[in-house]
Amino acid sequence: MIIDSHVHISRYNKNAASLEEAFGLFLEEMEKNGISGAIIIPDNIEGSDNIVDLDKAIELIGERKNLFLLGSPQIIQRGSGELEKYKKLLEEGKIKGIKLFPGHDPYYPTDERCLPYYELCEKLNVPVLFHTGENSGDSECAKWNDPEYIVEIAKKYSQLKVIITHYYWPKMDYCYEITKDIQNIYFETAAMADAEVVEKSGGIEKVKETLRKTIVDRSDKVIFGTDWPMCKIEEHIELIKSLELNKDVEDGIFWGNTKRTYNLPL
Ligand SMILES: [Zn+2]
Repeated sequence: MIIDSHVHISRYNKNAASLEEAFGLFLEEMEKNGISGAIIIPDNIEGSDNIVDLDKAIELIGERKNLFLLGSPQIIQRGSGELEKYKKLLEEGKIKGIKLFPGHDPYYPTDERCLPYYELCEKLNVPVLFHTGENSGDSECAKWNDPEYIVEIAKKYSQLKVIITHYYWPKMDYCYEITKDIQNIYFETAAMADAEVVEKSGGIEKVKETLRKTIVDRSDKVIFGTDWPMCKIEEHIELIKSLELNKDVEDGIFWGNTKRTYNLPL
């Protein structure tokens, strides 16, 4: 079984004429790669024709029991003003956690507008996922999501499940070192097999070494994700398999850790 915990339904490189078509493409990808469940991350831009927001995602998913969602509050535009909305969505199980995009948007994880969301997620025992590292073609933006701030949050909210995605590429070593003693930090693998990410981060052996060290430290806190459609699902499956882990640990990364961390009813 494999759960892909990091997917966007978006029109990327003219892959689809509409969001409905992009969603159809994802269902085909799931089938092709043996993905039995997925967490779709809606964008915090609303009403776009190019990437699904929360309402559109809820509509597309319909009654499917193997697809789940995260919430993506608009910190810049609305501050903490959407807290009640996300509280309700989390309590009703319509979303399984919160994703924050520091670096896509100009705020730090320690921004006080974010704090009520951490408190809420800690109380409800659901994770907060942080986008980290560079964006393709923009290295400046990584200043907003430096793991030093994420460590600060993980220490302040010691029961909160704090998930780092993209391993703060290209500075994976730095991210490993600064987070290694913090028990409530989790890592999710989206984009780690992407050609640009691999090359800029020091090559595939470096990426594998980083993952291996992380898995030795916290085998129950590494979670499979891909960032489809920007990244390829099969390359990410191949990356995990190439680590030659024992079956229990590999299963944990492919689905067990995800199911437990996000409390998925699968
Ligand atoms: Zn993503």
